[in-house]
Amino acid sequence: MSDCIFCKIANKEISATIVYEDDLCLAFEDLNPQAPVHVLVIPKQHLTSLADASEEDVELLGHLCRVCDKVAAEKGIKEDGYRVVTNHGEKAGQSVLHLHLHVLGGRPMNWPPG
Ligand code: 5GP
Ligand code: ZN
Repeated sequence: MSDCIFCKIANKEISATIVYEDDLCLAFEDLNPQAPVHVLVIPKQHLTSLADASEEDVELLGHLCRVCDKVAAEKGIKEDGYRVVTNHGEKAGQSVLHLHLHVLGGRPMNWPPG
């Protein structure tokens, strides 16, 4: 999508600190980190949110989860624990309308998450 900021990051039209990349996805540092480690994992293909995914995206969604764990390991938060969050829609606070998984860690995480 031409006006999507995360599509632009995926296309390298906007810079980001990339921590992992493969054919299907990209992981980069969040601009406004909410924890010592805060990385966003996105599919290169535009999906608005989980609610925009279909049965044919199941493999891609599984891959994104595997990449979250890889990123957590590389960032040194796998052993202590990390959180993966994705927001869909207004009430969940989704602000960027391109599917992204937040990988958060490096501090204790509260529950419920507010
Ligand atoms: P949401 O609120 O949609 O779940 O999360 C969007 C996230 O994207 C936020 O944590 C925000 O800080 C991050 N973000 C928004 N714009 C940019 C950007 O241009 N670059 C990067 N690296 N992160 C961004
Ligand atoms: Zn997009």
